[in-house]
Amino acid sequence: MNEPCHKTCNFGRLQKLKFYKYPAILLNNHIGRRESGNQRVFRKAKVLLVNPWIHDFTAFDLWSKPVGLLSIGRLLSGAGIEVSMLDLTNSVPKRKSDGTGQYSHEIIPTPPVLDGILRHRRYKRYGIPYTEAAHRANSHRRPDLILLTSAMTYWYRGVAETVDFLKRAYGNVEIWAGGTYVELMPEHARENLDVSRIINNMSPSQVANEVFDFLMIKPGARWSDPDSIDIYHPYSSDHCFVTRTSFGCPMNCSYCGSHTIHGQYRQRNPESVALDILKATRRGVRNITFYDDALLAGNSCHLKNVLDCLETLLPPSLRPESASSKPLAFHVPNGLHGRLMDSECAAMLARWNFGTINIGYEFDDASHQDDTGGKIFRDELETAVANLRNAGFGPERIRAYLLCGYPGTKLADLTDAIKATVGAGARPAMALFSPVPGSRDFQRLFSDMKVAGEPLLANKNIYPIHSGFCTEDEYAALRIAIQILEKELISRGSVPDAPVMDILLRELEGVKKRWNPYPEAQNSNPVSGMD
Ligand code: SF4
Repeated sequence: MNEPCHKTCNFGRLQKLKFYKYPAILLNNHIGRRESGNQRVFRKAKVLLVNPWIHDFTAFDLWSKPVGLLSIGRLLSGAGIEVSMLDLTNSVPKRKSDGTGQYSHEIIPTPPVLDGILRHRRYKRYGIPYTEAAHRANSHRRPDLILLTSAMTYWYRGVAETVDFLKRAYGNVEIWAGGTYVELMPEHARENLDVSRIINNMSPSQVANEVFDFLMIKPGARWSDPDSIDIYHPYSSDHCFVTRTSFGCPMNCSYCGSHTIHGQYRQRNPESVALDILKATRRGVRNITFYDDALLAGNSCHLKNVLDCLETLLPPSLRPESASSKPLAFHVPNGLHGRLMDSECAAMLARWNFGTINIGYEFDDASHQDDTGGKIFRDELETAVANLRNAGFGPERIRAYLLCGYPGTKLADLTDAIKATVGAGARPAMALFSPVPGSRDFQRLFSDMKVAGEPLLANKNIYPIHSGFCTEDEYAALRIAIQILEKELISRGSVPDAPVMDILLRELEGVKKRWNPYPEAQNSNPVSGMD
């Protein structure tokens, strides 16, 4: 028996598309439209990739790039589709030499649910100012499909505003939304985003295949590495190249969403990663950022393999130990596994000009470490810092992330962790806790709380204060205390037995006077969590 004709030819679907969906037919991956009169114009199918605005109290561009969206863009452009990018966060007036910087922002009304929690911070839209964004949107011809990404769950209102903006710019256009927020809270996204489709549980190549089906396009050759982003680079100024050597993490800390977002830990082909970096350097990029969750997993062998491959590919002027005036610089914003920072690994990072090394320490209390996954203990932090220091990293280039506001911990636990960190010779960096849907903690602690239905309450600037971990004054005093300790650490090399609590209490008085100049008119503001 013959195959049914709809399996072997597209005619039926084309007719449907022509009469019921779009006035369009397809020719060699071009969509034909009856633009005016009887004139039929053939043009490439067009997909617009959109990185939405951020709505928050604070935001900073720490080499942020929509890596997943760029991977999809590479697959689509490789198949002959016209792909454009509208990155609404791509507005950093003054970048530092390492490629980071403050986003432009406009003040917007604070959502009612957050009203009154922070007295000294304004809610903002971070990224390209609205009117300029409208100009940029108008400079793109109307796309056949928009792929919209998302990041933090508590930035969802920025995604919703972006959908509204795109509909104003392009009319009733097909929009598919994906990204981290959608992955972690698909039902919430379905209810709150006015889009045609929610994309979750799909790899970049699966999304690309869905796009080909939707546009009825037959892609050419199969791609060798669907995670690569080497072909597609839509940014006019390449201040940094962002890539990953792996996805996910072999550990499973109770507060982390890595497993929900990436599933099983997997590594990319080292040669493919090295080739992507090489191509970026040929465009003049010198800042390379790894966005891995677990860059050192596999005893740092994987990273070593990537860097070994890269060394064979790079021209001599860009290899380590060359006397280039613009050497390559590597950055890792996510925390590294301190337990895996042996002397060989530390020497490798120093040789390849890695900038500040961030170690995920989170708690000093061993029972908190045990309860959450046992990622690292104090002696391992001390060994990691010693190895980095021996490899040539000064204290200004070694930081330890400490969780601020984790449920069940007190402010005194955090000051103990700060003390242990500066005692070990590393700078303390507060990582404000935010409940991550899909993490083990979220299911255990938050599933029946208000925060589960309203991601805005999981905002890292809000949660530690809203949950009663500390007051806004205490948080401000903590930041000042850390700056004081950092200065001392950098001048002395380490600060054993730092009187963190004394410094905090002293600075708290100053903050209160500055923010509440008439204390008799204010309610008393006790230091919470300290007993
Ligand atoms: S917190 Fe770090 S070590 Fe723990 S699961 Fe997440 S990525 Fe892995």
